[in-house]
Amino acid sequence: MTNKISIIGAGLTGLLLALFLEKCGYSVDIFEKRNEDTLTSNSPGRRASLDLTTRGLLALQEVSLLESVISNTTTIKGRTVHINKHDPIEQIYFYKKQQHVYTIDRAILFNILLETIKTQTNIKIHFATIVESFDDKHDIVIRNIATDTTSCIESQFIFAADGAFSTTRMFYENKNLLQISESKFNHQYKEISIPQEFVDTVAMNHFHMWVNQEAIFLLHPNYYSKTFGTLILPESSNYSFAKLISSQNISKFVNDYFPSLHSLNNFFVKDILANPINNLYSISCQPWLIDNKVLLIGDAAYAMLPFLGQGVNCNFEDCLVFYNLLQKYNNDLQQATQEYCEIRKKTADAIVYLSEQNYLEQYQGWHDAKTLLHYKLQRLLEKCFPEFVPYQFLVRFSTIPFDKVSLLRDKQIAIIHSLCEQYKTLDNIDWLEASTMINSWLLLLKTYESKTV
Ligand SMILES: Cc1cc2nc3c(=O)[nH]c(=O)nc-3n(C[C@H](O)[C@H](O)[C@H](O)COP(=O)(O)OP(=O)(O)OC[C@H]3O[C@@H](n4cnc5c(N)ncnc54)[C@H](O)[C@@H]3O)c2cc1C
Repeated sequence: MTNKISIIGAGLTGLLLALFLEKCGYSVDIFEKRNEDTLTSNSPGRRASLDLTTRGLLALQEVSLLESVISNTTTIKGRTVHINKHDPIEQIYFYKKQQHVYTIDRAILFNILLETIKTQTNIKIHFATIVESFDDKHDIVIRNIATDTTSCIESQFIFAADGAFSTTRMFYENKNLLQISESKFNHQYKEISIPQEFVDTVAMNHFHMWVNQEAIFLLHPNYYSKTFGTLILPESSNYSFAKLISSQNISKFVNDYFPSLHSLNNFFVKDILANPINNLYSISCQPWLIDNKVLLIGDAAYAMLPFLGQGVNCNFEDCLVFYNLLQKYNNDLQQATQEYCEIRKKTADAIVYLSEQNYLEQYQGWHDAKTLLHYKLQRLLEKCFPEFVPYQFLVRFSTIPFDKVSLLRDKQIAIIHSLCEQYKTLDNIDWLEASTMINSWLLLLKTYESKTV
């Protein structure tokens, strides 16, 4: 029997996973349908920079890539929300101490991983090679695009890291060996290219968000390469992308919705007319492991809404957890895989849930008085109780498992809602009651922190 490991997909998950497996002494073949040039250029819908945070960075550190990655990032220290007719709301990233988000061009991260892989003799990437199906023993059937020839590859074990639209997942769903659950959301997005002068004058190492009714414009500044903003609109509204099809209409939209962004009008016009519409999905499936031979990993196993910036971070953490389990079980793939699925499925379900909740909170109600009151109370409580950090900071900057972060999130939201319901304005809050509630939350936080290694 062969002892070769196959990975389907040379996305960020497949590449990092290969490095971890090589570290454990395995020989790895990666099968990637794209050729090398298209792999290392950003595809439409994925041109905005990626946010790297604690979980992803810890995984990169383990393969000694932290420094080279960080040296190509822009440091983001906080977030500024611009709401029409209100003062901007600033929030500095904090969890135990000031924290940073590291923003990187996706293609640069790809290149760092790819160049590292090329130095490893035990990892081989087969570009322009599509995995089309699996045979009865779950071995992969590949087609070489250049020669248009098909062959079957024997492997000891297969990792399917073939992304959110995974061929593997669909193949096994058709065989009734796994079930998929998929949600499509009401908003759609387009990427808008942003001139560097605008980024330099406005961004100041903050992530920016302009909101007006249901329209949102996000800006992740990147001082190392091109910055793309993301315009998010509801699928059905007066200003949906389906209706923004003339330059006059788009200019009127920018004027009405984002007057402070009028200097970007030409960029909005050009890119809204030229760029494709992207939809928002989250996808889960069960089980991840087929017949102890094929494991779905990365976006192939679960894909979340992008707004918490956790897809790659969580996928990288998955690779690190798998590596630690291989070490724990002396490279026994069966034992490592079983425990991996037990631990990571519940954290994956939790981050998919947290991303959906964050979307509902952030993207559907900034102009509603109740939401603004919740938001202001959260800010005030953070000032009085600095450890009462918003759950989004625990997602990004802690390593507390997401299922525990999810419990903390639900409790945190319940505290804020209950205080707002009871006291209606910030001036009336009973601080004794607030501190009792918050202390019980902090106790729970400390319990989870103490169990996190
Ligand atoms: C708009 C947006 C913003 C995001 N922002 C962030 C962020 O700030 N931070 C963050 O952590 N995450 C972010 N994400 C999530 C992140 O992009 C994904 O989680 C991550 O790219 C998933 O990586 P992957 O390798 O699992 O899948 P993919 O990147 O999709 O890679 C899959 C690979 O498999 C190959 N493939 C597919 N089918 C086959 C086949 N049949 N045969 C051979 N090869 C195949 C594909 O060509 C591809 O190279 C964002 C996502 C979006 C959409």
